[in-house]
Amino acid sequence: MNSIYLDNAATTPLNEQVYNKMLSVSHIYGNPSSIYQTGREARKLIDESRETVAKLLNADVSEIYFTSGGTEADNWAVAGTALLQKNGHIITSSIEHHAVLNTCKQLEYLGFDATYLPVDKFGIVSADELKKAVRKDTCLASVMYANNEIGTLQDISLLAKTAHEHGVLFHTDAVQAAGHMPLDVKALGVDMLSISAHKFGGPKGVGALYIKKGIKILNLISGGAQERGRRAGTENPTGIAGLAEALKIANNSIEQKAKELAEKRDSFEEDLFNLIPNIKLNGSKDSRLPNITNITIKDAPAEALLMRLDKCGIAASAGSACTSGSIEPSHVLMAIGLSEKEAKQSIRLSLSNDTTEEQLKSAAGIIAQQVKELRSIRIKQ
Ligand SMILES: *Cc1c(COP(=O)(O)O)cnc(C)c1O
Repeated sequence: MNSIYLDNAATTPLNEQVYNKMLSVSHIYGNPSSIYQTGREARKLIDESRETVAKLLNADVSEIYFTSGGTEADNWAVAGTALLQKNGHIITSSIEHHAVLNTCKQLEYLGFDATYLPVDKFGIVSADELKKAVRKDTCLASVMYANNEIGTLQDISLLAKTAHEHGVLFHTDAVQAAGHMPLDVKALGVDMLSISAHKFGGPKGVGALYIKKGIKILNLISGGAQERGRRAGTENPTGIAGLAEALKIANNSIEQKAKELAEKRDSFEEDLFNLIPNIKLNGSKDSRLPNITNITIKDAPAEALLMRLDKCGIAASAGSACTSGSIEPSHVLMAIGLSEKEAKQSIRLSLSNDTTEEQLKSAAGIIAQQVKELRSIRIKQ
């Protein structure tokens, strides 16, 4: 059975060139903090990777910190900023990834206040709402660049500007955006930005946080003086080299690839809409990532449908990977106004540039067939 992977928003397969790069450096076993040859080799690898990442984000090398992934980068930005103030208020959106949302919940438990900004039916955060939420003690606003369930993109430079006008620091979770659109921290005007390698063809368990020069946040991982004294623990040179290589490859003719991907996605959506009656697209059609399609399929419970698709070799998911397995309706879909029932009848199909048109044609046919069978069973019941 040919399998069709349509869950690239959950994770991406390791890019072959990235794999080869990692293989070619994995013999370097030295501790990057050691002064002898193999240690220096590891250090050099990290330094070069940092230069690559900094250049691609239009940042300075001194502003890039490697982490264990997107979750740690998000936790660090949000909790690190808040905890340095000892008390205060954080603004975020109601459609953030749990890496941000649950960090805010923890901070609330510790006595901080948090405001979860509403979004409109497309999933857009309004700068006016952000402005209205600002208090005297607001220390941070954190709004994701691209949503991982519906793909909606925010006007990050406007939101960051709005936060700054009120003396509030701004962080963006750019984990889904990275690899699909060029990221320029200066053009975006953000103070902090998170990325994660495994969302753009890199290895799992490695990410980075951009922290603008001069911004002070509390360390969350304490220990040795790695990452210029701000993130302790022996580095993962192979993973870091993989992250840099993956970001470099993803950024090669990134606009062209995004355009091609959006075209594939559009014709896939057209097929789905032609083949399946009573479906609805979730999110924004104008401002979204090129790779994510989120649809509500009336009378087709997502769990049952996904199991059927899995049997047919199609990997897809309902909302975020972190919430699947539980039957909780997606907080993102609820925030854009879907009912609980509709949210539980929604699936996310996320493509990559390696997804072929044949695969998409085939997937659309299989999904339509499975929906038809599922609906007929439910009608009989
Ligand atoms: C995947 C993801 C994360 C978490 O990144 P990990 O590297 O898996 O910890 C955070 N935010 C968004 C938007 C994501 O899609």
